[in-house]
Amino acid sequence: MTFAIIAHDGKKPEMVDFLLNNKDHLKGINLLATSTTGSHVEEMGLDVQKMMSGPLGGDAQIAAQVAQNKVDAVFFFRDPMGKHPHEPDVQMLLRLCDVHNIPLATNPASAQYILKGLIR
Ligand code: PGA
Repeated sequence: MTFAIIAHDGKKPEMVDFLLNNKDHLKGINLLATSTTGSHVEEMGLDVQKMMSGPLGGDAQIAAQVAQNKVDAVFFFRDPMGKHPHEPDVQMLLRLCDVHNIPLATNPASAQYILKGLIR
């Protein structure tokens, strides 16, 4: 199984908490992440394939993987209070999750339910 992990800066602490709380479940899973988010994943001792940083095209790279059905779930903690130069890429990623019917969590509560369902 492959999961994509992305968090906007204002949501990175919540992503770190989510990953730490679920570290044992994530050990056997292939993880993709945008660059800075991926560095946090590495720091907690998990293997991760790092893409470019979001504003430089990392969300678009992950969207391309979603379009090729190479991703089983996307965990994207968006910051709804912030402005993001790469908003078009963010929208593309969200849209492609819907096009390809890929589970998408944009906040920790939904992430927990999706993870629980997938690792059952
Ligand atoms: P980052 O990118 O992990 O490199 O910060 C995330 C984003 O802003 O999309």
